[in-house]
Amino acid sequence: VAIKKSVNEVISKLIHMGVMATINQEIDFESAEKIANELGIEVIKNEVEAKEEEEVDFIIPIDKEEDLKFRPPVVTVMGHVDHGKTSLLDAIRKTKVTEKEAGGITQHIGASEVEINGKKIVFLDTPGHEAFTAMRARGAKVTDIAILVVAADDGVMPQTIEAINHAKAAEVPIIVAINKMDKEGANPDRVKQELADNGILIEEWGGDVVSVPVSALKGTNIDTLLEMILLVAEMENFRANPNRKAVGTVVEAQLDKGKGSVATVIVQNGTLKIGDSVVIGTSHGRVRAMVNSKGKNLKQAGPSTAVEITGLSDVPLAGDQLIAVADDKKAREIATNRINKIKEQQLKSSQKISLDALFSQVQEGQIKELNVIVKADVQGSVEAVRQSLGKLSNDKVVVKSIHGGVGAITETDVMLASASNAIIIGFNVRPSSGASSLADKEEVDIRLYKIIYNALEDLEAAMKGMLDPEF
Ligand code: GDP
Repeated sequence: VAIKKSVNEVISKLIHMGVMATINQEIDFESAEKIANELGIEVIKNEVEAKEEEEVDFIIPIDKEEDLKFRPPVVTVMGHVDHGKTSLLDAIRKTKVTEKEAGGITQHIGASEVEINGKKIVFLDTPGHEAFTAMRARGAKVTDIAILVVAADDGVMPQTIEAINHAKAAEVPIIVAINKMDKEGANPDRVKQELADNGILIEEWGGDVVSVPVSALKGTNIDTLLEMILLVAEMENFRANPNRKAVGTVVEAQLDKGKGSVATVIVQNGTLKIGDSVVIGTSHGRVRAMVNSKGKNLKQAGPSTAVEITGLSDVPLAGDQLIAVADDKKAREIATNRINKIKEQQLKSSQKISLDALFSQVQEGQIKELNVIVKADVQGSVEAVRQSLGKLSNDKVVVKSIHGGVGAITETDVMLASASNAIIIGFNVRPSSGASSLADKEEVDIRLYKIIYNALEDLEAAMKGMLDPEF
């Protein structure tokens, strides 16, 4: 734990709290957080590691209310295949990223910035809930708003429902873009009805979800959609403090022949500057250059700016968090510690939810909610299970079905389970081979059943601590 306070100060606080500590002793996250709060600093868990072990390796100051300023929203486009996600992103870029900066060329860096009425919106260039949830499984939260694209001639489809559930699980507000309005068979009312059937109640229907009819192909109503994004962003009041060291998240990274390791980072808080010493996951370095999506070289990048940076020791992963630290030495030290810790942890295993361990996890108060994903061969079974699941809740655990669908258990299901700490139950379906190995890696518990009653019986037994161990 790295805190800019003297050891004695920390120890005396610990003793004050009733914890006897010595200089070299490791303390748990809760204690660290308490001390930090008393000393007036905020503790941010390094989520990637926190998943494995509750420990902090860097601490950033709490932002004072008066230092917080509005920041632009970061948006991801989701929806069923062929409903027009890519076309919509293209249309948005085409209408809004017209004026090229002097000497700049529009670059693909993984995120695009557009402007409407002088206000900025950042779009992640990889559409779909798969990328979104893969990031979340790594502990990253970049997306502020999800645009759900639904083709007006096709309506709500399986991946539409997946996208809804993934966005809901992440508690990200949704704006619906009813696309392909130019088409003959466009029926927006049917889309609204089907959305309502799936728990998305739009404004005209008395709900609070904004919907905008658009045509990505013709470029119709794109401005209205962008205005709605800004409106929702204003309501949500996204804020950050531009006057502090940067914190951000990597959305894309690769090794470039000429430039070395490059990473596109969304700055989420603070301002990133050329020459800043940074740690990103297990890589570190000094920001040598920053380029935005318009190909413009920047000297500094404030909150909600997408920049491609160079100067890193290694290629980080999408979802890795960037933190700007005091100097190179600090950056190197944190990165080295992380590498060592990962090596250690590869030996240990993490605390993922499993039916076998459920009862003790509940008893220890580690779990208050059991998230379940249901996959089955027919829709009837999915519905039956989802309805029965709710009834299993007791005063200790709430059983919540976060997603259900027809078909094999996919890698996306496993990522959602991993991100939401859920278990997956399948009826007369099997995991794809990719899903099986991913589930092993992510330690996601998949249970397969033929009979619904058996599944409910197992869940109930697990909650009561009476499940026969699975061999
Ligand atoms: P994605 O799979 O969701 O990214 O969908 P695409 O953007 O690739 O679009 C799938 C198909 O729908 C392409 O052939 C597009 O040209 C077409 N498409 C997308 N938006 C519209 C639209 O507004 N109107 C019409 N008529 N076609 C569209």
